[in-house]
Amino acid sequence: MDEPHIRGATRREVLGGAAAVLGSPVLGGHTGTREPPDTDSAGSCGSDYDEEFEELLEAAPDPEVLGDRSLAAARWSRPLRRRFKVTMRYKVRGNWLVGYHTGIDLAVPRGTPVYAVGSGVVVLASWSGSYGKAVTIKLSDAHYVVYGHLNRISVARGAKVRAGTRIGNSGSTGRTTGPHLHFEVRARRQYGSDIDPVRYLARHGLKL
Ligand SMILES: [Zn+2]
Repeated sequence: MDEPHIRGATRREVLGGAAAVLGSPVLGGHTGTREPPDTDSAGSCGSDYDEEFEELLEAAPDPEVLGDRSLAAARWSRPLRRRFKVTMRYKVRGNWLVGYHTGIDLAVPRGTPVYAVGSGVVVLASWSGSYGKAVTIKLSDAHYVVYGHLNRISVARGAKVRAGTRIGNSGSTGRTTGPHLHFEVRARRQYGSDIDPVRYLARHGLKL
């Protein structure tokens, strides 16, 4: 197994080339850009790939989530139960390494309860660089859900959650322009494997 810091160095080396081909699906380190995202709304993500978060996620244990009938059978839940404003949609173009916003930004006041959308296991629950305080959950269908910019985290790494388990409160930690929940769904653990979070929830019968 590679040393995380060696992978990091490699990513930073890759960066030199990646910055020149921004918008291509190259995976690598920071772009170094600090321009605001392509939106005039407050309460959204500052655009950035976060190496710190990706390395934490890559190094996290891979919990078994399949085959747990009691967890898998639970119904799905919305991540927020109060009204929100979508301040940045999925795949808005910007200065992320893959060239677009990898999640959806839902603006809500600081302290709004945030819920697990499905059953699974908490993979990360910690400070996560530009994602701020973030919770990542591996769901029973092996997808990963990332909740970013939380004000407070109320689950621990390794904890089993059900749909509707409160995982924390929303906030504005990390790189943001104001309070919001960054909600991201990945088909695999790696950056760039993101899928449309609205369609994903729709497949489970939820209208975001
Ligand atoms: Zn975002």
